[in-house]
Amino acid sequence: MSNLDKIKEEGEDLALEESKRIHCPFCNDRTEKSMYITRKPAGVAYICYRASCNQYGYTNAPPPNPALRKAAREYGKKPFQPKVNTSQLVNVPPNVLTAMLSPYGLSLGDATRQHFKWDTAAQRLSMPVFDRSGYKIGTVDKAMDKNVVPKAILHRHEDVPMLHFPLYQKLDKKITLVEALISSVKVAKVTPCAALLGSSVSKAILDKLTKEGFSDIVLMLDEDAFAKAIKIQQRIGHLFKSFRIVKLDKGLKPKDLSLEQIKELVR
Ligand SMILES: [Zn+2]
Repeated sequence: MSNLDKIKEEGEDLALEESKRIHCPFCNDRTEKSMYITRKPAGVAYICYRASCNQYGYTNAPPPNPALRKAAREYGKKPFQPKVNTSQLVNVPPNVLTAMLSPYGLSLGDATRQHFKWDTAAQRLSMPVFDRSGYKIGTVDKAMDKNVVPKAILHRHEDVPMLHFPLYQKLDKKITLVEALISSVKVAKVTPCAALLGSSVSKAILDKLTKEGFSDIVLMLDEDAFAKAIKIQQRIGHLFKSFRIVKLDKGLKPKDLSLEQIKELVR
């Protein structure tokens, strides 16, 4: 059964415009119901809220094989609608700092400098996504409770590639790319860094990197995405002057490393 057939089947018991959350057949992750489906007159609309997957479209659209993927995306694409978190935000309280940032060596000063805020109503840490000029293009709202689904919500304020550049860093031709926003803030203390907000390098992000003159790439994905990093290197490595991947020890993410370890790895 194809992924689209599975989604179709899941949508059969829904009334028109009714929605529900399901396990995403593309991610095939049984722990988290990251996909939202909505019954539409012509079929079932689906979107996976995992940043690393982000499959979306309609079940009556062409299946997302690589050649048709772009067409499928265009087909399912509504005009861009900015998503903005309108909750009241407050400064990061001490318990949130302790639970979500201190374990990675990030301080209240770091949180303040990167404009992190706390969304009390949603119980989420709201972290702005900045483009390389420091313009806010979105937020990643991360739940403090590890069991909340989805763990991170990406609010896109602008219809641009979501590549996050932590503030207060001097950019150069060499850049380290990591998956998550918090990891990028940590790594940027040592070397210029940007977060992919996922483990893939989309065509749009690739174009952005080359157009903006980044020529030496260090790709440091989480350890569990190392196989993916190799594939990315094979696909796009030749487009840069240098392209190196860093393998982390089992189970580690860049945010888990000490500044000395990061310095050693990105040399
Ligand atoms: Zn998915």
